[in-house]
Amino acid sequence: MKALVTGSSGFIGSNLVRRLASRGDEVVGIDRRRVRGPAGLQVTMDLADRRNLAELARWARWADVVFHLAARPGIRSDSPRVDRLRHRDIIMTTDHLMAVVAERTHVILASSSSVYGDAARRNGSHRASRETDPTRPISRYGHFKASMERLALQYRRPGDGLAIARPFTVIGEGQRPDMALSIWMEAVRRGEPVEVFGGLDRARDVTDVSKVVEALMAMADRRFCGTVNLGAGRPRLLDEMVKAVFSAMGREAPVRVVRADPQEVRVTCADPTRARVDLGVDLTTDLERVTIRQAGARLVAA
Ligand code: NAD
Repeated sequence: MKALVTGSSGFIGSNLVRRLASRGDEVVGIDRRRVRGPAGLQVTMDLADRRNLAELARWARWADVVFHLAARPGIRSDSPRVDRLRHRDIIMTTDHLMAVVAERTHVILASSSSVYGDAARRNGSHRASRETDPTRPISRYGHFKASMERLALQYRRPGDGLAIARPFTVIGEGQRPDMALSIWMEAVRRGEPVEVFGGLDRARDVTDVSKVVEALMAMADRRFCGTVNLGAGRPRLLDEMVKAVFSAMGREAPVRVVRADPQEVRVTCADPTRARVDLGVDLTTDLERVTIRQAGARLVAA
C-alpha cells in the first residue's frame, strides 16, 4: 500500500509511519516540522500554504490512502490568534487536501472526541458517546474539528472513500508535551507539584497509541467508510492517571487541584462497538502499562 501521512512528525503520525513502514508499506510523511528518525520519505511542507498545492497534489495522487493527521490539537490555549492558527491547520489543510486528492484514494481524517463535548448523561451517570450522537462541542478546538468533518463531507459523501476517526485522549510513546500525562511526568521529574484541572474525580477515556495506530491501519486495509470512535470505552479518573504516573516514575509529587477552564469537559467515554465490529480492533487500554511505556520512552529520548 502507498500511504501518505500528514502530521507525520507528530505524536500519532510518527507512531503510524513507523508501523506502516515496518510491515512493508511505502510511506511518505508530510509535516512542516522535521524530526529525527521517522521511517519513510519525509517531505517538509506547510499544508496550509497555497503555494504548496501542486506538490501536495502530486503526493496525494501517488497514494492509495491518505491519513490526514496534521492539525493544531489541544484545547487549553485560547485567543483569537489561536483560533486563526486552528483555522489554518485544521480547516485549510483539510480543504487543500480534499481539493487535490484523487477520487480513487481512500481518505482517513483524524477528528476528535472533542466533537461530542461532555459525555451525555443518563440516569445521573455518563453514557458512552456513539458515532450517531449529534455533535455538541464545548471547546473551540472541538468546534473546529466538527467544522472540519462537515467540510470534508462537502467534498465526498460518506460512502465514497471517506473515513473519519475520532480518537479519545491518546497516551503512549512520544505523547505531546502539552498533554496531561506528559505534563505530570515532567512535573514529577522536576520535583514540582502536579496540577490537576477541575478535580481528581474527572475522567478521560484514555487510549493506547499503539491500538489507535492499529485501528487507523485497519481503516485503510478494510477501506472503512464513515465515522468511528477510537476510544477504549473505559473512562479513567484523573486520580488513577496521576497514580499511574507516580508508579511509573517510581516517585510522587504533591497534587494541586486548579480551576478548570470551562472548555474542559468532565468526562469522556467512547462507545467502542463500531471499532470492534467494523475494524476488528479491540481498543482496550491498560493505563498502568502504557504509562510505564511512555515514561520509559521519555528516558530513552532524553
Ligand atoms: P501533534 O501536534 O503531535 O501532530 C500534529 C502534526 O501536524 C505536528 O507535527 C505539526 O507540525 C503538523 N502540522 C500542523 N499543521 C501543519 C501544517 N499546516 N502543515 C504541515 N504540518 C502541520 O498531534 P497528535 O497528538 O499526533 O494528533 C494527531 C491528530 O489526531 C490531530 O489531528 C489531532 O487533532 C487528532 N487527535 C489527537 C488526540 C490525542 O490524544 N493526541 C485525540 C484526538 C484527536
